[in-house]
Amino acid sequence: MTAADVVVIGGGMAGASAAYEIAARNRVVLLEREKFCGYHSTGRSAASFTENYGNSVIRRLAKASRTFFERPPPGFSEATLVAPRGILTIGRTDQLEALARAFERGRAFVPDLVEIDPAAAIARAPILHRDYVAGAFFEPRSRDIDVHAVHQGFLKGLKVRGGSIVTDAEVSAIDRHRNLWRIETRSGRFEAAVVIDAAGAWAEEVASMVGARPIGLVPKRRTAFSIDAPPGVDPSPWPLVDDVGAEFYFKPDAGRLLVSPADATPSPPTDAQPEEIDVAIGLDRLQRATALSVHRVTHKWAGLRSFVADGSPVVGWDDEVEGFFWLAAQGGYGIKTAPALARAAARLIARDGVPRDLLDHGLDQSVLGPSRCRLTGAALTEN
Ligand SMILES: Cc1cc2nc3c(=O)[nH]c(=O)nc-3n(C[C@H](O)[C@H](O)[C@H](O)COP(=O)(O)OP(=O)(O)OC[C@H]3O[C@@H](n4cnc5c(N)ncnc54)[C@H](O)[C@@H]3O)c2cc1C
Repeated sequence: MTAADVVVIGGGMAGASAAYEIAARNRVVLLEREKFCGYHSTGRSAASFTENYGNSVIRRLAKASRTFFERPPPGFSEATLVAPRGILTIGRTDQLEALARAFERGRAFVPDLVEIDPAAAIARAPILHRDYVAGAFFEPRSRDIDVHAVHQGFLKGLKVRGGSIVTDAEVSAIDRHRNLWRIETRSGRFEAAVVIDAAGAWAEEVASMVGARPIGLVPKRRTAFSIDAPPGVDPSPWPLVDDVGAEFYFKPDAGRLLVSPADATPSPPTDAQPEEIDVAIGLDRLQRATALSVHRVTHKWAGLRSFVADGSPVVGWDDEVEGFFWLAAQGGYGIKTAPALARAAARLIARDGVPRDLLDHGLDQSVLGPSRCRLTGAALTEN
């Protein structure tokens, strides 16, 4: 039996970042079911940092995470964690009202959001069809995230702080014995006063092992694929181009284009795989909006984005099961919000309350904690 203060279940971005923060003061063991950490949603994202996507809680968490990405702690990573990549939001004629609303709402969080005319939009992303784009706005300070470097930075930092990582360690049972959790895996047994549930799409399965009530988590499949850029064209200076109706987006990615139909199909927790129909829908929408004629998809994948009803993450102590802490429901935002959520988790675990800067953004336990999910089935704001 390996003893720790805190056992974190799940080695994706949520578990890795929280384990890193908590290890500053506690003995932490991170347990991951797969042979390596980051196999599921964390390794399948679009790697975008924006303050203009998600509900207002998500936008505030992104703001509170920016400094970490831009100025990480010394020694965190040899790589630069983020690089400039503006986001161009476009609309057709029939989407102009939605575009105006999105711009007004966006400016409340991102004052430097600028409206641009179709010609200026096409100058930024010359592949767009002139007769498709009727209006646009641009977010200049959004970023690409080097997800691998961020994730590895957290895992490496966890080890430097004395924590340990056990892979191939699916948690199969958890029992409470004399105020301690005993956690069974095929790679050994572990004991700790605190268990953190950072199991992504499987968070409710893990919670059911301790008898915690569900939070209404719904994993939703999202598809992405890669295509070659047109011959002789370097797409790297282009922005991420996002359709205001969430019908598709594309962005440059290592000399190619990453495309998504922005699908959100409810799914059981699983190793998500792309469906041909979703790739076809993405290709169709992309080819309507651009001059691209795609003959070959070079790579395709899918991942799960897990939501509760209000679209905000669930971070906090379970109010009924002692020693059980939720870090779940990061939706489509779990990379860009990880630094702030991990700091919040570490402070709450230490019983110090939500960090001051998050409280200043209005992010308290009534907004983040699990009890809100059981009260009313909280109203859906925006996914
Ligand atoms: C196509 C796509 C695009 C996205 N784009 C972005 C983006 O641009 N920006 C952004 O911020 N976010 C984005 N996201 C969302 C982001 O990827 C997720 O919010 C984030 O990765 C969630 O991290 P996680 O650690 O909660 O989950 P995961 O990475 O899924 O990790 C959970 C881990 O728990 C492990 N686990 C489960 N059960 C057990 C068990 N019983 N025992 C041990 N281990 C267990 C799993 O094996 C898994 O590794 C995107 C997601 C997708 C799919």
